[in-house]
Amino acid sequence: MNKKELINSGKVKSVFTTDNDDEVIIEFRDDMTAGDGARKEVMDKKGSYNAIISSKIFKVLEENGIETQFVDLPEPNVMIAKKLEMIPIEVIVRNIATGSLVRKYPIQEGIRLEPPVVEMDYKDDDYHDPMLNFSLIQALGIATQEEVDILIEKALKINEVLTKFFADAGIILVDFKVEFGKDKDGKILLGDEISPDGCRLWDSETLDMLDKELFRKGKDNEVMNAYVEVYNRVIPDDEKFDF
Ligand code: 5GP
Repeated sequence: MNKKELINSGKVKSVFTTDNDDEVIIEFRDDMTAGDGARKEVMDKKGSYNAIISSKIFKVLEENGIETQFVDLPEPNVMIAKKLEMIPIEVIVRNIATGSLVRKYPIQEGIRLEPPVVEMDYKDDDYHDPMLNFSLIQALGIATQEEVDILIEKALKINEVLTKFFADAGIILVDFKVEFGKDKDGKILLGDEISPDGCRLWDSETLDMLDKELFRKGKDNEVMNAYVEVYNRVIPDDEKFDF
């Protein structure tokens, strides 16, 4: 499959058209960013670790009835995916209170949130991804109430499946962000990626962080070891790449 034209260059991924009008090539770059892109470093092989982890997760979700844009991973950092028109909403699901939740609300750090908290942010770095409600979503014209209900239902189902998936690898899924898009028939599929970039993952025993939060906290020399640890735990040996 050949890359044709670059159609979107995000903070960590580049999207190209292909010979097939219904598919795109998503190249996961080695960039790591924080603060809406204000800080950026290059981390060796980070794109490959994220693409492999995300592909595995998308396959697990497909097996559990959640449709995704994943088609194939021909190279460690190159995903072939169904072309989607992305909905500019970041759906965040939280199982344990931390991060912006405890900065913004009087909720105690570390408590389990039952039922999980679901939030939606408007995906726009210039506005620092402000939180949405349905009235704002309507005003922005980005989704209908029915579509918002589908996003929330899918995000909660993803949470159920991935909580177990990570628990089996000795990892607590603290919180995560997902993004969705519409395929050519208007069907809503999971898009983007699910990787240590957009999840908080804690070791079940030590509660050590195994995700991008390390980079956000300036622990740049520890962050790739954490990504490799997640890769080693969730990718079975016969699915590991030589790279
Ligand atoms: P918080 O709102 O506490 O900063 O983040 C909650 C969860 O959503 C974390 O797992 C975080 O990684 C993810 N998240 C929220 N916004 C973004 C974003 O703009 N980019 C990425 N990669 N993850 C995000």
